[in-house]
Amino acid sequence: MKLFISADMEGSTGIIDPSYCNPGANNYERGRRLMTADVNAVVEAALAAGATEIVVADSHHKMNNILIEELHPGATLLCGSPRDHSMMQGLDSTFDAAFFLGYHSRHGMPGVLSHTMSGAIKNMYINGRVVGEFGFNAIYAGHYGVPVCLVSGDDQIAQEAKELIPAISTAVVKTATSRTSAICLPPAASANLLRQATQQALARVREIKPLQVSLPLELTIEFAHTGQAEMAAIIPGASLRPGTTEVTCLVEDPREMYKTMRAMLNLAGTAEFF
Ligand SMILES: [Zn+2]
Repeated sequence: MKLFISADMEGSTGIIDPSYCNPGANNYERGRRLMTADVNAVVEAALAAGATEIVVADSHHKMNNILIEELHPGATLLCGSPRDHSMMQGLDSTFDAAFFLGYHSRHGMPGVLSHTMSGAIKNMYINGRVVGEFGFNAIYAGHYGVPVCLVSGDDQIAQEAKELIPAISTAVVKTATSRTSAICLPPAASANLLRQATQQALARVREIKPLQVSLPLELTIEFAHTGQAEMAAIIPGASLRPGTTEVTCLVEDPREMYKTMRAMLNLAGTAEFF
C-alpha cells in the first residue's frame, strides 16, 4: 500500500491567520511545528494500518515548511520548489491512495485563509465546473487513477471536498468563525482525530472512485484584474474572454493542466496593478 500525502499549511491544526504561514512572520515557526505534527499523526496511523511506502509532498508556498528533523522516519519528504506539478509532484499510478492534509476552501468562500493558489486567481474552472485547490489536485490524482481518501482542515474544506468526493474521510481540526479565526482542537486532540480518520480512510480506499474528467479538458482561470489576464493569455492556445478577466485554454490532460496553470500564474505575476 503506497500513500501520497500532499500537505498544505493553512488548514493545519491551530493555524488561523497569515502570521503562521508566511516565512519570517511571528508565528511561522509554530506553524511549521503544527503542520509537521499533523503529518506525523497521519504517517504513524497509516503505517499501523498497513501502508508500506509514504511520500509526503510539502505543498505550501516555497514548499519547504515541514521540519524534516521532526518528520516520522516512516515517510520520505518531497520539499522545495519550483516543481512542474507543484502540490502534486511525485504522484503517479503506482500509488494506491492520496491524502490532502492542511487544505483550505477556495477563493471567495467562507473558511480559514480561503484562497485559490494565490491572490491573483479568483476562480478556476475545469470543463466549466468551479474548483479550488482540492478539486484541481484531486482531478490531477484522478489522471493516475488514484483516489483522494482523506482531507484535513476546517469544516469548510471538509464540505467542499465532500461535494466532489462524497465518500471521502474528513478530519475537521477546526471550525471557521471567519477567514482568520476558528474554534481549534488542541494538537493532542487533533492528532487523535487524524489517526482515527486515517484508519477509516485506508479501510475505504476501494470504495472511492478516482476523480476523472473528459479529455481534452477546458481550463479557465479567472484573474483578479485585467492586466493579469492579459499576461496569462500570452500562452499559445489561450484566449481572454472579451469583457471578463477569464483566460481559457484547451489542454490535453491534467498534467498539462497543471503546467498551464503554473505558467499563467507566473505570467500574471508580472502584471502591475498600481
Ligand atoms: Zn498553502
